[in-house]
Amino acid sequence: MKAIAVFPQQREVRLIDAQEPRLTGPDEVKVRTLEVGVCGTDREICGFHYGTPPEGSGHLVIGHECLGEVVETGPAVRGLRKGDLAVLTVRRPCGLETCPSCREGRQDFCYTGAFTERGIKQQHGFMTEFVVDRERYFIPVPRELREVAVLVEPLTIAEKALIEVWQVQQRLPWSCPSAGGERKPGHCHHALVLGAGPIGLLGAMAFANAGFSTVVYSREGEKSDKADLVRSFGAQYISSEVTEISNLVERMGTIDVVYEATGASRLSFEVLEQVGPNAAFIFTGVPGLKGPAAIDTDRIMRNMVLKNQVLLGTVNAGRDAFENAIRDLGDFMRKWPDSVRRLITGRYAIGDYRTPLLSTDGIKNIITFN
Ligand SMILES: [Zn+2]
Ligand SMILES: [Zn+2]
Repeated sequence: MKAIAVFPQQREVRLIDAQEPRLTGPDEVKVRTLEVGVCGTDREICGFHYGTPPEGSGHLVIGHECLGEVVETGPAVRGLRKGDLAVLTVRRPCGLETCPSCREGRQDFCYTGAFTERGIKQQHGFMTEFVVDRERYFIPVPRELREVAVLVEPLTIAEKALIEVWQVQQRLPWSCPSAGGERKPGHCHHALVLGAGPIGLLGAMAFANAGFSTVVYSREGEKSDKADLVRSFGAQYISSEVTEISNLVERMGTIDVVYEATGASRLSFEVLEQVGPNAAFIFTGVPGLKGPAAIDTDRIMRNMVLKNQVLLGTVNAGRDAFENAIRDLGDFMRKWPDSVRRLITGRYAIGDYRTPLLSTDGIKNIITFN
């Protein structure tokens, strides 16, 4: 079967002929790959900046944003049947006795760093025609989401952040939007999303859907397609061309939650200086290490203490975030179907893999495996 593989030693990305995987345990499931999303991580792996092949292998099959259709199940599989659609989680446990989070199935909080990740770290990924894994790593997807379910994995970043925001902001029981999506009037419903890439836009949809009055702040102009897309799902768009960070509060009101999806650390810390009382600030980007920058640490620390602010980072996602992503994607499709479809800007056959892996055009590009 065909697979897209990166050879870090030879600095090559190639279509290879790989052995079709077979079930080896009773709780395993085999899916036929339908679509795999391409993201910045894949592009970094293809640029040989990131990613590790499995031990003993000279190559890594990439891809971690997978939608598949079940073709075969082991005798112990209960929750999936032939013909079902499913998405896969990415991270696999470190297996070390000393790691309580991995033992609990929460490898997204792994303590040891010895976890593996399909398509990224020491395990082959999903840009291949068939995938086998244990049932516990699949989440079933309703058939009506077939067209957009490849967006589930990138949406889980925001869903995990939202779960954590709810947990933190339970300390403000008088005024937080509820997890069910109902907005109560109050003082913690202004969300600011930094960046209008796929993670930012999906995050903005998730925050808007959860009842936050949501603003996306990014580089593109206020008359751009991106700005128009943001407004199409009821969020506000503010361009950094027009509004400086120091004027954000004036334009949007108090900032209660920030969802950072740019990987730009300097911008993020400048925004952190502007956030309001009892705010939660979430980092999701992984910046390249560009050396020290000057920031006003006294002001930031003073604010954080005197305003009860919380700063948290989040990576990867657990099963709960995947389930919420599937639920919310269903909400998005009922409320803003055209906006969701506009996030998928290109579908490429496997033979044309180079275009989406090498270019940054569009929002979310996808490789199809029909
Ligand atoms: Zn990704
Ligand atoms: Zn672990």
